[in-house]
Amino acid sequence: MTARTRPDLDQLPSYVPGRTAPGAVKLASNEVSAPALPSVVQAIAAAAAGVNRYPDTASTALVHELARRLEVDPAQIVVGNGSVSLCQQLVSATCADGDEVVFAWRSFEAYPLLVRGVGAVPVTVPLTPAHGHDLDAMLAAITPRTRLVFVCNPNNPTSTVVHAEELTRFLDAVPDEVLVVLDEAYTEFVRDPGVPDGIALTRGRDNVAVLRTFSKAYGLAGLRVGYTVAPIPVAAAVRKVAVPFGVSGVAQAAALACLQATDELLARCDDLVVERERVRAALVSAGYTVPVSEANFVWLPVGDGALDLAQRCADGGVLVRAFAGSGVRVSTGTPQENDAFLRALDIPC
Ligand SMILES: *Cc1c(COP(=O)(O)O)cnc(C)c1O
Repeated sequence: MTARTRPDLDQLPSYVPGRTAPGAVKLASNEVSAPALPSVVQAIAAAAAGVNRYPDTASTALVHELARRLEVDPAQIVVGNGSVSLCQQLVSATCADGDEVVFAWRSFEAYPLLVRGVGAVPVTVPLTPAHGHDLDAMLAAITPRTRLVFVCNPNNPTSTVVHAEELTRFLDAVPDEVLVVLDEAYTEFVRDPGVPDGIALTRGRDNVAVLRTFSKAYGLAGLRVGYTVAPIPVAAAVRKVAVPFGVSGVAQAAALACLQATDELLARCDDLVVERERVRAALVSAGYTVPVSEANFVWLPVGDGALDLAQRCADGGVLVRAFAGSGVRVSTGTPQENDAFLRALDIPC
């Protein structure tokens, strides 16, 4: 007889990572195509010599540099092994068995898995016909069991945003004891001036946290480092449920080096946004429906055509992310990679 595991996990699907294949153009995981900057590689190499020691489990230098730049109290910041790890810690820190977590669907694939993983109950609220968050319906979904609400802004995988006015109204209406987590993994790609800065929305509110990551705009997906800015008591609880030494010294050093290179990295985001708009315009001209994107990907809501469309891309040497029955998410890569994607769909570029 094998050791007993939780029976409820038998029903839980595994996280599906974006596909990879040798030689293929990979536009499936919203990574930045450009390799790490030389200054970042140098910082990684220097930190590598110190791996005989455990890392600083509090990520002190990184926390203080983030606090200085974001103008928040260092006690509000927790660094984690990717912001996905912080999603899990936030759920663990707020939910006991049977408590509810509200989020839009479709949204970030990891939410339902993390929520179920800690024994909490996901409560999903359908997106609007325009593929955006339905904040009124999310508000209505809050019950006395609700402990946390995720708002992914921009939303993965649909690339849509919620605007300042509607979000402020929502935050004002959510009960004080329910934590709202604004997941801003793609904030550096936002160009719509109506989208609020989540950090500003945390000021003066005791139930709002923001998640940011070095995986996307900062190009460190492979090193696993992200952070939350949370109310001080929430941050303290989030630290308690962390796996000790979860963020390597190499990752901490790389993140600090990225912050030193912020101007250069954000300039790369500007180039990416130009490409995103070019890809979207080409798709729209070819007759596809594509929501306006504020992230580093576009969403093709092709419904039951999702798997077919992804296969056509794969046949053309381009890996994209299909969500069966719903749509296809295509990360924005280099101009050459984006051309390969458009060519795979016989779209002139
Ligand atoms: C990519 C992504 C993250 C970041 O994950 P990391 O663990 O920091 O790599 C978080 N939230 C959303 C919505 C994402 O798409």
